[in-house]
Amino acid sequence: MDHARPEPREHTLIAPTTDQWRLLDIQGVDTRMQQIAHSERTLPQHAELAELEQQAATVRDDLVRAQTEASDTNREFLKAEADVDQVRQRAARDQARLDAGQGGHKELESLQHELATLARRQSDLEDVELEVMERLEALNSEVERLSTEQAALAERTAEVVGRRDAALAKLAEERERLQRERSGMVLGLDTALLALYEKIRESSGAGAAMLRARRCEGCRLELNPQDMQRIRAAADDDVVRCEECRRILVRTGESGL
Ligand SMILES: [Zn+2]
Repeated sequence: MDHARPEPREHTLIAPTTDQWRLLDIQGVDTRMQQIAHSERTLPQHAELAELEQQAATVRDDLVRAQTEASDTNREFLKAEADVDQVRQRAARDQARLDAGQGGHKELESLQHELATLARRQSDLEDVELEVMERLEALNSEVERLSTEQAALAERTAEVVGRRDAALAKLAEERERLQRERSGMVLGLDTALLALYEKIRESSGAGAAMLRARRCEGCRLELNPQDMQRIRAAADDDVVRCEECRRILVRTGESGL
């Protein structure tokens, strides 16, 4: 007579002990697959790439700005050059006429006067030309510096992408291997037990845990004496669950029953 054993509650599922044990292996695989998914999301390369992308965007903007400014300044420089050239040609013509010595005294005096004016004008324009040229040179160096920086960032990005892809490929490979293993593990497993496991796993992330030394390995809580008593009283093939985390509690020789 087994008066100590309470009637199994209506919703109590019954499944072979060996199937319950197999849930622990399946849970191990599922836990590892969750870790893989977490690793994929949190690869350090994601943050590195985001940082590099931000730097590249800044450099790209600075480069466009510097290139536009350099192009404008180059136009300004060509204009300044042409201005100087015009004055220089005019002075050369005047000088030639003066050297030829043709024309009256008054005309030659006027030419001399104009040449003096043109010389001052040329000097002023050359100052402008020089100033523009210096600005242009500075801008060109800036464009060059930014282009070099852009190339370096592209190279660094390619290197990080390579490392990220290698890490992802390794994780994907492990996932595929685990999925194959899992397919073998669930083969022939009690379908109601597996369905319950999957249902709990979907809602809380993990479906089964070992009861080890009176502690649920899922939520790490020690079972109270009433629950221990209930579990001790349960048949081996009764599927019992943790009252705290609702996981299927799998009993083994280490459960402390
Ligand atoms: Zn628990």
